[in-house]
Amino acid sequence: MATTTEFHFGEAQLFIAGHWVDAGPALEVRNKYTNETIGEIPTARREDVDAAVAAAAETAPKMAQMPAYEKSEILARTSQLMRQRAEEIARTISAEAGKALKFARIEVDRAIGTFTIAAEEAKRIHGETIPLDALPAGAGYFGFWVRRPVGVVAAISPFNFPLNLVAHKVAPAIAAGNAIVLKPASSTPLTSVLLCRILEEAGLPPGAINLVVGSGSTVGEWLVSDRRVAKITFTGSPSVGERILRVAGIKKVTLELGNTSPVIVSPDADLQSVAKRCAVGAYYNSGQVCLSIQRIYSDRHIHEPFTEFFLKASESMVVGDPLDERVDVGPMIDEHEAVRIQGWVREAQQEGAKVLTGGRREGPVYWPTVLTDVAPGMKVVKDEVFAPVASVIPYDDFEDALRQADATEYGLQASVFTRDIQRIFRAIERLNFGGVIINETPTFRVDHMPYGGIRQSGIGREGLRFAIEEMTNIQMVAIRMAT
Ligand code: NAP
Repeated sequence: MATTTEFHFGEAQLFIAGHWVDAGPALEVRNKYTNETIGEIPTARREDVDAAVAAAAETAPKMAQMPAYEKSEILARTSQLMRQRAEEIARTISAEAGKALKFARIEVDRAIGTFTIAAEEAKRIHGETIPLDALPAGAGYFGFWVRRPVGVVAAISPFNFPLNLVAHKVAPAIAAGNAIVLKPASSTPLTSVLLCRILEEAGLPPGAINLVVGSGSTVGEWLVSDRRVAKITFTGSPSVGERILRVAGIKKVTLELGNTSPVIVSPDADLQSVAKRCAVGAYYNSGQVCLSIQRIYSDRHIHEPFTEFFLKASESMVVGDPLDERVDVGPMIDEHEAVRIQGWVREAQQEGAKVLTGGRREGPVYWPTVLTDVAPGMKVVKDEVFAPVASVIPYDDFEDALRQADATEYGLQASVFTRDIQRIFRAIERLNFGGVIINETPTFRVDHMPYGGIRQSGIGREGLRFAIEEMTNIQMVAIRMAT
């Protein structure tokens, strides 16, 4: 394992109505590799959540009236400031989330792009005219619809992308003219503190973004059940997504949940290159990515050489301190998670699976692990592993591979490697996922594309233009022309 590097964050507070404030008991934020405390932040009490929602509700009309060019300028300035502070943000992500620094830097770059596109989209929010006279009842009327901001957006984010998944909520909410209350994951709140400081410096009015921190079961539920909140945008686990739907009441809700990402490798693919890409897609951020590769279906004719290449690529991953430049795979978010996946792999072994490499744990670190001889009913195949564990599964014919890939409760993204155009179109037709990716891993995401799942993977879409649609209401206007 690679060695340790120091990191301390300094002071952090909640951000409510344009003020940095203290609140309830402090939450210690730890370096996920060394377990040292790197910062503290007060947790929100019920009255703090109430104050945050009140501030957002009071600011929402002001945001709704802000001209598009002004929203655009604030968003563009935010991305410029993020660029200036990119290394500080990347190191914060790396320390608090355990993400290898090289990937934390990519996350910062992506978030800069997310804000840049939001700045552009802020200028393109419009409706259209409707020919009301298409029916007799509409004759003599002029009709059009416009998009109006919803008002208060509650944004709840997970630990695995503490910046870009927050950006995917905050940037379109501002572009749409809303006010926001943000609750980041309790294990990774510090990156959100940095983002709020930047938004403040970029000129976002007080109350337009409010930051509350604390447990999902208290702070999160107070927030989502508040009747002043008009829209919930949530990324996280399916069980919490389901819970939110139960307590939210009548509100718009977007849910970005999990996946058991499948990849199908055809015999005509460049096996060595696919194997290398799959290794990054399976182990990056210790497999704690909603799109992490979990099931690789390889044609039986090439199964052996492909598995060899994949094994080699898996074993070449450098495991250790995420703040070390050389490291590819850091710790999991906590030891509890590493113990969980260790248990899942052991259970699979008892049921007949073979561990070709990995299966090793040291504290919160779990080594890249390749499984074979797995069965569809095993947890490592049917449930979201959310860990650096991938199974290689042989198939006899392409139709069967499509069937197995699609036999899941989830539906975020799936991918196929082939040069055969017939297979490509068949895969697009047969794979019921929010995204089908050809000749790239299912982890592929460019931040302005429509992104989201079906089945247990969620409701709604992110990607700036699509998130803006979800964060606005359509208002119809009909004008009787003759008086
Ligand atoms: P999580 O446990 O569901 O937590 C996500 C957020 O929800 C956290 O801020 C959490 O707060 C909060 N929360 C927990 N219980 C809540 C409740 N009852 N009401 C309101 N909020 C509540 O997920 P995670 O472990 O951070 O992230 C892993 C999951 O996210 C995986 O399933 C992964 O697939 C999914 N994910 C999906 C996408 C996507 O785009 N589809 C992207 C990334 C991750 P606390 O931190 O205080 O518990």
